[in-house]
Amino acid sequence: MGTLTTTIPPPRYDHVYRGPVMERLVSAGEMAQFCGGVDEACATLRHGTCYIYYSQKRLPALTALIRRHEMGHCNGWPGSHPDARTVTRYEWGKQKKPKHGVLLELE
Ligand SMILES: [Zn+2]
Repeated sequence: MGTLTTTIPPPRYDHVYRGPVMERLVSAGEMAQFCGGVDEACATLRHGTCYIYYSQKRLPALTALIRRHEMGHCNGWPGSHPDARTVTRYEWGKQKKPKHGVLLELE
């Protein structure tokens, strides 16, 4: 069993972006170009469109949460991540796996 951790925005930024969203899985080189090469993912808002870039090296199990994180930035959540909520995803062994597959715990 392992645990994976990421952060999601505070409630006021934690909603689907109300505009076009473009999502792309990119190589390490493209991550450097679009995201400064540091993160698992990043988002930019350009001309009202929310662009989200995901590194091919991101943890697939966290993709949905990473999307919420990045969409939060398109909704105006500052890059310094004020009021970030930490989410821990517990991965259970097969026998103990709950129906929904995950258990989310908000701080
Ligand atoms: Zn962020």
